[in-house]
Amino acid sequence: MDFEFDDDLRMLQEQVGDFAIKVVAQGAEARDHAAEMPQQLIQQLADMGLFGISIPESYGGAGLGCDASTMVVEEISKACAGTGVLISAHTSLCVYPIMAFGTEAQKKKYLPGMASGETIGCLSLTEPGSGSDVGAATCRAELKSDGWHINGSKIFVTNGKEAGVMVLLAVTDPDEKKHGMSAFIIETNTPGVRIGKFEKKLGIRCSSTAEFVFEDCVLSEDALLGERGQGLRIALSILDGGRIGIAAQALGIAQACLYEATKYANTREQFGRPIGTFQAIQNKLADIAVGIEAARALVYRAAWYKDNDRDYVQAGAMAKLFASEMCSKAANHAVQVFGGYGYCQDYPVERFLRDAKITELYEGTSEIHRIVIARSLV
Ligand SMILES: Cc1cc2nc3c(=O)[nH]c(=O)nc-3n(C[C@H](O)[C@H](O)[C@H](O)COP(=O)(O)OP(=O)(O)OC[C@H]3O[C@@H](n4cnc5c(N)ncnc54)[C@H](O)[C@@H]3O)c2cc1C
Repeated sequence: MDFEFDDDLRMLQEQVGDFAIKVVAQGAEARDHAAEMPQQLIQQLADMGLFGISIPESYGGAGLGCDASTMVVEEISKACAGTGVLISAHTSLCVYPIMAFGTEAQKKKYLPGMASGETIGCLSLTEPGSGSDVGAATCRAELKSDGWHINGSKIFVTNGKEAGVMVLLAVTDPDEKKHGMSAFIIETNTPGVRIGKFEKKLGIRCSSTAEFVFEDCVLSEDALLGERGQGLRIALSILDGGRIGIAAQALGIAQACLYEATKYANTREQFGRPIGTFQAIQNKLADIAVGIEAARALVYRAAWYKDNDRDYVQAGAMAKLFASEMCSKAANHAVQVFGGYGYCQDYPVERFLRDAKITELYEGTSEIHRIVIARSLV
């Protein structure tokens, strides 16, 4: 059993960690206030090769495993959770399905641009009436003589503003129930595709979250991703892997909480001594530290399962459930350590608390994860 990254991964971790501190962390507060993701930062992430980390070298990427992409999201999320999810959504929600289910022609067409960061990816799965209940989707894809006609809407699309390519789930055969949905690859500038609105959010505010409206958008027949009727299977497979990325995001946020809370506990004095000398404060720091280590073990175990072709559904669900709930507790503790200052924008922990919450909600809520885990028990 080995709890260490190998030398290559450790070197990459140092590089990405250094970049996260020097570049990503610097503008995090401003990006949160402006609710904007600057193009310049996207370019810097691209220059670091972070959009192509899991894409095979033959398509222009680094060809690394889930352990590496997980580590990247963790390191970037330590500095800025909104930037962490930009990479996680691109990698897990769009690159992965194209790699796993795409034809050679689709891979050649899309992956090189996605590896270089020239094209950002997103996933359109959720609809107003279809959240946890993925099978309740109504966005329609009808095959006519000139191709697939897409009509309907999708909401909560991460990277909606930046994305050039999207994986879309739509109903192709309404009577087929489980096999009624199919997946498509769509370029977001295709006529008939438009952005409805952007969500104004509690946290991860620099990450764009968009509504997409499809009005008789016509796609060629070869836009189908995987086989007709395989959409639900593809969607669930995307979420199974995506969860590991969100768990890594939670792990990153929790470490930022521990770092800031410890620093503050060592410097803030009350009753003539640093508050870090009070056991009540030490307990919070200890609890955060234990939570982080436990979450890290679960997160990298799930990544290892994925890299080693083991069934990672339950492992990913456990990692996401534990890491996200741990992250919210850690952020809450961090604000408590800061006292009233923790509630104010002069310190970053209020942002961490707002950012932490989303990890319990997207790519499956905690309630859904408990269902997934329990399903394999009872
Ligand atoms: C910021 C953000 C980014 C997102 N990014 C994307 C994206 O990129 N692409 C995409 O397609 N979607 C995205 N989503 C959607 C996200 O995955 C869904 O919001 C999430 O899956 C929950 O769906 P819902 O919001 O419709 O909640 P609902 O499904 O309506 O759930 C409401 C509540 O009921 C509970 N509940 C539902 N069903 C059950 C059940 N069977 N048993 C017990 N409890 C249940 C839930 O756990 C929750 O507490 C994003 C959402 C947000 C907020």
